[in-house]
Amino acid sequence: MDARRLLRRVASGVALLLASLGLPVQAGDLSHADIARRFQPPLHVGDKLRDIPAWPITSELEPEAGPVAYAFESIDLAPIPGFEGTPMNLLVSIDRKGNFMDVALLRQHEPVFLSGLGEGPLRDFLAQYANKSLKQEITVSSLYGNTRAGAGGNRVVLDGVSKATASVRIVNQTVLTSALAVARARLGFATPAEKGPLAEVKADVFERRSFAELLASGAIGRLHLSHADVEQRFAGSDGAGVDAEALARPDETFIDLYVAYLNAPTIGRALLGDTGHADLMRRLEPGQHAWWVASAGRDAYIDEDFTRGTVPARLAFSQGGAPVELRDLDLSPRPPEGAPPLNAALVLRVPPMSGIDPASPVRFELTLTRAKGSMLPVLTQRSVSLDYQAPEALFFRPPAPLPDWLIAWKERGVELGIIAAALALLSVVLARPRWISVSARRLKVFRLAFLAFTLGYIGWYAQGQLSIVQITGAIKSLVAGAGLKSFLYDPVSLLLIAFTLASFVVWGRGTFCGWLCPFGALQEFAALLARALRLPERKLPARLAGVLDRTRFVILAALTALAALAPQWAEKGVEVEPFKTAITVGFDRSAPFVAYALILLVLGGLYYKFFCRYLCPLGAAMALGGKLRLLDWLPRRSECGQPCQTCRHRCAYDAIEKSGAIRYERCFQCLDCVGIYHDPGRCAPIMLMHKKDKARNAS
Ligand code: SF4
Ligand code: SF4
Repeated sequence: MDARRLLRRVASGVALLLASLGLPVQAGDLSHADIARRFQPPLHVGDKLRDIPAWPITSELEPEAGPVAYAFESIDLAPIPGFEGTPMNLLVSIDRKGNFMDVALLRQHEPVFLSGLGEGPLRDFLAQYANKSLKQEITVSSLYGNTRAGAGGNRVVLDGVSKATASVRIVNQTVLTSALAVARARLGFATPAEKGPLAEVKADVFERRSFAELLASGAIGRLHLSHADVEQRFAGSDGAGVDAEALARPDETFIDLYVAYLNAPTIGRALLGDTGHADLMRRLEPGQHAWWVASAGRDAYIDEDFTRGTVPARLAFSQGGAPVELRDLDLSPRPPEGAPPLNAALVLRVPPMSGIDPASPVRFELTLTRAKGSMLPVLTQRSVSLDYQAPEALFFRPPAPLPDWLIAWKERGVELGIIAAALALLSVVLARPRWISVSARRLKVFRLAFLAFTLGYIGWYAQGQLSIVQITGAIKSLVAGAGLKSFLYDPVSLLLIAFTLASFVVWGRGTFCGWLCPFGALQEFAALLARALRLPERKLPARLAGVLDRTRFVILAALTALAALAPQWAEKGVEVEPFKTAITVGFDRSAPFVAYALILLVLGGLYYKFFCRYLCPLGAAMALGGKLRLLDWLPRRSECGQPCQTCRHRCAYDAIEKSGAIRYERCFQCLDCVGIYHDPGRCAPIMLMHKKDKARNAS
């Protein structure tokens, strides 16, 4: 059994255990009574549907209308994991036209909303769905408080939430995915993901065409069946040879079936006349399509007892194998000029949200019935089909809307560009560290400037603080079999994760911890402030430091185990990190969290990088990842450690052994030792060598 399956088994066992103890597991949260309490008369909640987990809502005011709305829990239909790896649960209600009535928060696990910003901004965000339509393209703005940005036409842009853009995009995906699932199952919505954007009629394209021209161009489709054709279809069955008229005149027309797509002005105006077409278009709802279906010959495609406004019993309609109801619109079109004498002609339309693509082929299927015998006749049926596709020139196809995650990448293009440029600069410096590090002053200026960028731009502005939550979230998602798609919604973090993973192989763990961690940078500045305040730097006793050094690995192991086995505890455990308090919400959080972050910074001022070295589970994960490093890239000479200890004493991270070897799992790549190595004024062996050379020259 592979590790993932084993984890899944353990997790499902734990889930069963939790359920038996009455603790929450991932599933719908509400009973029928819970839902019923939320809808007051005249609305009533019916029993949960069997085919889709949703509750139908009926209205006393429309007793015959069937469900006027549906309510459902998003977790049953779209359990999309958030950043912390657990799906949120929302109670969504939509009316029968696909308009949102309400989206209410049931539970959520997004770290930023758990205790950072609190749930208030999330509830405000959800309130924006009311009265929006599923037929609209609903996206989330990254410009907070600017609903009109980018909106227009069929596009609705909801206000995002500052510092939680990626999380609310996942919320949006959850709302839309669950609501569309219900709309497709119950409201006849199409499946846009499968078909792409539907073609639209070019309303301004019109050329006056005769019936014959439309027929010749394929704009009117035709199926001609002679008596002989029909006889052939019934050959070998009880229906063979029972139609005397067909046998007598085999070449005569049994039926001529004509179909044409009416929304396109060139076809519609030719068949219905200008006013008839205008009237039709007024009667159709947006997204609704109509066809002219007529027949000539001996047989008519509608029966004598056909009732206007209903579905012609013998005619079926489908697209791509999916049947759609064609209903009479109760118009009485005059026979088009140039058409043969017709025995039936109707304007038939599909429901408004059928998802029919008018530019793609559709199939009309006509049922033919023959009866053998007059007492208890034996009926035999055959069907014939007419495939029809209106000319492509009459349509245009709107560009496919970008998926939400791709919109996030586009909107953050500038931030990504700036951070990518900074990463490229850092790569050059680490690949060729000599020039920058040989001057202690130059190195200090560059390092402080880069750390200020990391803290201010990557951390506070672009919200790119990597965190242990990304690791525990990934574990939880994988255990739940939900994949890692949520990472796509946070492009800045994904860029930093990709760069950090690549840096493991080349330089080891220190590239992230030494240069790209905003909280790490904040600790550096805390230490500088402490020195400026003349607070002495202290060192823990070596034995205590040795024991504490392992603490961060214990914390990492505990958090990853909790993520796989008891996610609700992992959610609390990750608060060992002060990143959310200090970076994500900029200390705008309740007092205990702020106090904890400040204490860690004070400790970092006294004991250099206290949190990094003794507590940080992400740093521990980085140290493990750094084991992939292929190069011993920090320069060393034979005198390093034997006897020279200059670099060792100068290394603020205790990352150099007495032997002079670098302990890369501790090294934060500050480049101090590289500068010393290249500096004839600071490297003891070089200074000694120069001294010897001078003495030799003098003698
Ligand atoms: S050890 Fe933790 S806090 Fe320190 S730099 Fe690394 S990730 Fe950041
Ligand atoms: S001085 Fe220490 S932390 Fe800095 S690069 Fe050298 S070994 Fe790494």
